[in-house]
Amino acid sequence: MAQIRIENVRKDFGAFNAVKSSSFTIEDGEFFMLLGPSGCGKTTTLRMMAGLELPTSGEIYIDGEEVGQKPASQRDIAFVFQMFALYPHMNVRKNISYPLQSQGMAKPAVKQKVAEIADILGISDILDRPVGGLSGGDRQRVALGRAIVRDPKAFLMDEPLGALDAEFREHMSEELRALHDRMGATTVYVTHDQLEAMQMGDKIVVMNHGVVEQFGIPQEIYDWPATKFVAQFIGSPPMNFLEFNGAVGANAEQVEFAEAKFAIPKHRDGAKGALTFGIRPEHIALDDSAPYRGVVLAVEYLGTTQIVTLDTPNGTIKARATSNDAVRIGQRTGLRFDPRTISIFGADGHVLKSAANERVVTHG
Ligand code: ATP
Repeated sequence: MAQIRIENVRKDFGAFNAVKSSSFTIEDGEFFMLLGPSGCGKTTTLRMMAGLELPTSGEIYIDGEEVGQKPASQRDIAFVFQMFALYPHMNVRKNISYPLQSQGMAKPAVKQKVAEIADILGISDILDRPVGGLSGGDRQRVALGRAIVRDPKAFLMDEPLGALDAEFREHMSEELRALHDRMGATTVYVTHDQLEAMQMGDKIVVMNHGVVEQFGIPQEIYDWPATKFVAQFIGSPPMNFLEFNGAVGANAEQVEFAEAKFAIPKHRDGAKGALTFGIRPEHIALDDSAPYRGVVLAVEYLGTTQIVTLDTPNGTIKARATSNDAVRIGQRTGLRFDPRTISIFGADGHVLKSAANERVVTHG
């Protein structure tokens, strides 16, 4: 078990700066997600924690000890790649015990450890079966057993479920999270899938172009994105942006654009000029009495809700309505925005601090 602290870590590959100065802390026992699009530097960050890459500058602490320049072998951390390559010629027990045997652990200790892991995973009764004839679910449990059988200080996982089809992936992510809750080992998990990150993580770091854009619990990141990038990367459909010229500040409780006035939270950060008004689709109500108008361009039925695409004076926006709302293409309707949920972003793409989002930390 371990706390992992990253301080001002930077990684260059020749002239290319893959990770800019990054700092965050992974607490002991957390299930921690490194999330971002392809090429943003999440694998490089994970490999630096493991000791498979050395930082160009900055420090990495594991349980308070600075290990940034130490090789992987001295960090007692398990790096889990793809989980699903089992040894087909070995039975379940041998597949799980292989990592311990290759470490030179004594046979009785191996036996006991394998029994413990099999018990946790509910596969004690199949230990002597060949892996070839197992069901998909059992194969996954064996693969998981082999990945976690060592007792390292932390598990680092790089898109471990990436190769699975959607159904298995969901099942396996639930199982992995449940296993973590039983064992409580610090786990760092790389993914580019925002839903996976939201569902599985205690905390999330969102990266883009080598920069930590935001760090926090899933709800905070969803409700109060620190940057426009996070607001668009998280959420499906993403947050709507309405560009406007105006001013916000301690005494401004509304903004005005397209001949309509919108209530907003009080802002501690004052700003004026070109600003962005951000609102999530589910915080927009279709309300004929509202003065801000839009025309329905498309309706996407999703069962309990429907996504309504509207043309407004400030561009196309998407609202999430309940399926019971009667909406038809071509209809003109008013739009009401829930004032407690509005984010205003400055010209640099960072959110402006308000009474509602003041805990959000922006980086970069
Ligand atoms: P992906 O999900 O595609 O793996 P990622 O967010 O994990 O993306 P990284 O693998 O960390 O991204 O790579 C970040 C950037 O650093 C990329 O532009 C990549 O091409 C570059 N990079 C990574 N490793 C090396 C290397 N050994 N030499 C040169 N450039 C590298």
